[in-house]
Amino acid sequence: MGKGHFYTTRSTLSQEAVTSMKDIDTLLQDCKEHAFDLHFSRAKEWKAEKPDRVVVGYLPIYFPREIIHAAGGLPVGIFGGGDQKQIVKGDAYYQSYICHIPRSVIELALDKHLEHFDGFIFPSICDVIRNLSGIFKQKKIGKFVKYMDFPQNFLPEIGGVFYQQEMQHILQYIKAVNGREVTPERLNQAIRLYNRNRELIEIIYDIRQQYPWRLRIEDLYHVLRAGTAIPVEEHNAILEQVCTYIQQDIGTPQDKVKVVVSGAFCEQPSLGLIKAIEEAGCYVVDDDYMLGSRMILGDIDDSTDNPLEAIANAYIRQSQYSSSIFDIDNPKEYRLAKIVEKRDAAGVIFASASFCDPSLLDAPIFQNAFNKLGIRYIAFQFSENINQFKVIKEQVGAFSDSIKLWEDEPAEAIYS
Ligand code: SF4
Repeated sequence: MGKGHFYTTRSTLSQEAVTSMKDIDTLLQDCKEHAFDLHFSRAKEWKAEKPDRVVVGYLPIYFPREIIHAAGGLPVGIFGGGDQKQIVKGDAYYQSYICHIPRSVIELALDKHLEHFDGFIFPSICDVIRNLSGIFKQKKIGKFVKYMDFPQNFLPEIGGVFYQQEMQHILQYIKAVNGREVTPERLNQAIRLYNRNRELIEIIYDIRQQYPWRLRIEDLYHVLRAGTAIPVEEHNAILEQVCTYIQQDIGTPQDKVKVVVSGAFCEQPSLGLIKAIEEAGCYVVDDDYMLGSRMILGDIDDSTDNPLEAIANAYIRQSQYSSSIFDIDNPKEYRLAKIVEKRDAAGVIFASASFCDPSLLDAPIFQNAFNKLGIRYIAFQFSENINQFKVIKEQVGAFSDSIKLWEDEPAEAIYS
């Protein structure tokens, strides 16, 4: 089924495809429950269905979930406890001047939320994540713990080969648990499923870019985050239904400005904050909240004899920009500017987790470039457990008002 499939008009949709409001409400509610289920119940149920199934947790930002699927596993994203988990023990493991997510992940582990996980993967992004993997090892949480380095050399014969070795390493860990031999056919089948997943997500973003009122940002967030907690086959079915739903002429446009949110790719803002940005007068038409699920742009080749090489090549050649990638030949500030242009957005909201070095170190680079390019922006910091954001809401409201009032003025005029 090609991308064009979803660009149908309402009159061409089958009766079954025209989803009723009640059905979509139930679907979105289910997604919300999966997204914030700190007991990872769907993964637990899925694992209990067959004896050789494994559940593997991965931390942000990106991890090639295809390889876990091919090895008979369910990859499950771990994004911390948000504002739903009170930190009691986690603070003892970390100094006060780092971000919040490692404390809540440790808290989840110590409170046995992760007991049914077989292993954990910590993709390299920063020292905090590296240290968190060390604590998991020390505490012997799970049957394996892998700190996964990603290539910073973008030559396929150097960085690509290294990346394949890292993936092989993980497959060996899983084989030691379930004895599963991974074949190219199984990997290609997994690649196909995740290609479809990424394609459907991008279709939803494309439709929302034009008609953002058809799906609220919090619903989009729930739908995407649910995909990190359930099997990809189930997530693809949900995405198809959402795609069909938002092709309908529903909702009423409001007087809001389109913006892109950038910088919240690891520790997640509370749901209240995600909602507040739209309530304050913006439509968020692109964001990096669930960056890992959208990291590879376009399809990965699903027809080769060496699918690990195909996955590595896709990472090297088709990655979205990210604070975890050193991309001197392809500067991220211009890549973000292109997203702003593509989405026809009026500005950017830089939202960084407090003490998040990767996000905060990139912010001035983006902002310097945007001053020159005339792209409007504001910046603030958040913490996953903070649900007080009156000031941020006022800031975002003033930002959207200023864009509406001085739409035709160059950005420098607003900042000066
Ligand atoms: S929020 Fe930032 S500093 Fe904290 S673990 Fe994630 S990337 Fe690292």
